[in-house]
Amino acid sequence: MSETCPTISTPPPPLRSAGIALLSVVLPAFNEAGSLALLLPRLQQALGAQARALELVVVDDGSSDDTALVVHSAIAKGLPVRLVRLSRNFGKEAALSAGLDVADGDVVVCMDADGQHPLETVLEMIALWRTGRDVVYGVQTDRLNSQSATRRGFTRIFYWLMHIGTRVEIPANAGDFRLLDRCVVLALRRLPERARYMKGLFAWVGFDAIGVPYVPENRLHGVSHYKYRRLFSLAMTAMTAFTQVPLRMVTALGVLVSILAVLFGLWVIFETTVIGVSVSGYATVVTSIVFLAGVQLMCLGIIGEYLGRVFDEVKQRPLYLTREITPPLPRPAAEQDRGAT
Ligand code: UDP
Ligand code: MG
Repeated sequence: MSETCPTISTPPPPLRSAGIALLSVVLPAFNEAGSLALLLPRLQQALGAQARALELVVVDDGSSDDTALVVHSAIAKGLPVRLVRLSRNFGKEAALSAGLDVADGDVVVCMDADGQHPLETVLEMIALWRTGRDVVYGVQTDRLNSQSATRRGFTRIFYWLMHIGTRVEIPANAGDFRLLDRCVVLALRRLPERARYMKGLFAWVGFDAIGVPYVPENRLHGVSHYKYRRLFSLAMTAMTAFTQVPLRMVTALGVLVSILAVLFGLWVIFETTVIGVSVSGYATVVTSIVFLAGVQLMCLGIIGEYLGRVFDEVKQRPLYLTREITPPLPRPAAEQDRGAT
């Protein structure tokens, strides 16, 4: 098994039409027993014919329901499923990384375990891979309409800051729903950082990527795990991992406040010496002290965020811990298929 990408060229598109030897689907799952019971058979039915072998990698992200049990019973029924069970809830980004570390396919599809990602879109993604694309990401077309005005506003500011702060173009309205060629998976495995904003990392590795529009379906079961607090935390991870714009803004703010302070000082000198007004201004002094204290605390907070990320990285803790991994599924085709498909 070759663990590196071809250094000279990737297989040209015509060879890809020869077919996929092993197709992996990575499904991060946190309390998704109800959805997985329906989704796993559907996936086998819809994608079974797309490759000579199929591997459904379910990453149980510390679920407290019967997610692992449902996966084991699917394995017992003969479905091509692998279970990676994390020792606790590490979050979707870590669960996705765990799945990508285990997935052995020539093509790997990442999708949610709640059934919101349409299977027809996966078929479209595979068709685009056959034409030579290395990454095909889903673009949620109705995303902005389905969100509240506040969330839309924050999303726009977030993408604007990311856009001006990093040379890596992170497509808006694209999520973790995507198809990756094995080359891209191998590249992602080489990224050691703990601050895992997967959308950013997908964009950072590059390769030949294209978007495909999709409209998310309703959850098969349960409710979303992402509330404002979790989204805010993910946005902070993204910002500190991919841009230094907040630090530069702090510097700019410092310069601006200093200029204003000098101008105000000159005005006071002018007022007392030329106009002859005696120094007063208790309110001005108190207001500026409180204002500057606020600005300084905010700046410390921003610097602290970056320092916190550095602290996380230097601890070098693993990204996730597993308590159970089921054995790999047998590969039906010979290993030499990998290079040629
Ligand atoms: N998920 C996960 N760990 C978490 C939270 C979510 O693995 O801590 C999984 C979840 O089971 C689902 C996917 O990530 O398969 C997306 O989560 P969710 O549907 O809650 O998010 P939304 O679709 O609302 O963005
Ligand atoms: Mg969902």
